[in-house]
Amino acid sequence: MIHDLHMHSSASDGSLDPAELVDYVREHGVDVMSITDHDTVDAYAALKDVELGGVTLIPGIELSTTWMGRGVHVVGLNIDIETEALQSGIAAQTAARHQRAELIADRLARAGIDHPLEAVAALAGNTAIGRPHFARHLVDTGVVRNVRAAFQKYLGAGKPGDVRMLWAELPEVVEWIRLSGGIAVLAHPAKYGLTWTRLRALLDDFRRAGGAGIEVVCGRQDDATTRRLATLASEFGLAASSGSDFHSPKQHWTRPGGFPPLPSQLEPVWTRW
Ligand code: AMP
Ligand code: MN
Ligand code: MN
Ligand code: MN
Repeated sequence: MIHDLHMHSSASDGSLDPAELVDYVREHGVDVMSITDHDTVDAYAALKDVELGGVTLIPGIELSTTWMGRGVHVVGLNIDIETEALQSGIAAQTAARHQRAELIADRLARAGIDHPLEAVAALAGNTAIGRPHFARHLVDTGVVRNVRAAFQKYLGAGKPGDVRMLWAELPEVVEWIRLSGGIAVLAHPAKYGLTWTRLRALLDDFRRAGGAGIEVVCGRQDDATTRRLATLASEFGLAASSGSDFHSPKQHWTRPGGFPPLPSQLEPVWTRW
């Protein structure tokens, strides 16, 4: 059974709408999937009357948070979307995202880019604005050659468009997930640029806050990283999750289910629901 428990739809920064995503994921042979959009569960409302065609859908979300001034993501799996605490948390994150979009636009304007908020909001459609929408705008207007360069120059860690302090703190987002009956999973632990010592400190705090899982396999990563993350999962007594962090068929380096199985000694997160 292939479990892909980390993916994005057009409700956040993915390119496929929720129903297209379900079809695409099923075509890739995934058995159990979760749509984990950034700070929103809107995809699930869009799927209410959609035939899933045999794939099992686990309600999920990817929440933005800060830890020690750094942006860290927590995936909530098997959540009850209707839970009040989660809904109000999402509302706060949505407000923070709007506020952040204005700050990013201001900072980019000061860096010499024509005030971009209106165009970026149009690109994002009805969904919350994220940095990928700013990146696309910078590419479309010829400021940079590609999305990668947009992050390198303007949006990535330490760059003008990097505004991080608006998100809820780590223990808070873990608590929303727990109160909604879900499992809090630390997303893509190898992608924060932390040393292994710092990553252990993060996992320690995450555990203390009620975090119960860790993505041991996330998208394309080398075997050595997977082995080290497996060791951390065992050391901290965390359940292991796997996901592609799929955003778009155009990103040919990720596809739904396109990753190796979890190391067999670990407890898969899906044994918990
Ligand atoms: P946000 O949620 O607005 O902070 O945007 C974060 C999203 O931007 C991530 O989930 C990725 O989809 C995307 N992203 C982050 N860093 C990069 C990068 N270096 N190149 C391309 N996309 C990125
Ligand atoms: Mn994303
Ligand atoms: Mn993420
Ligand atoms: Mn993601």
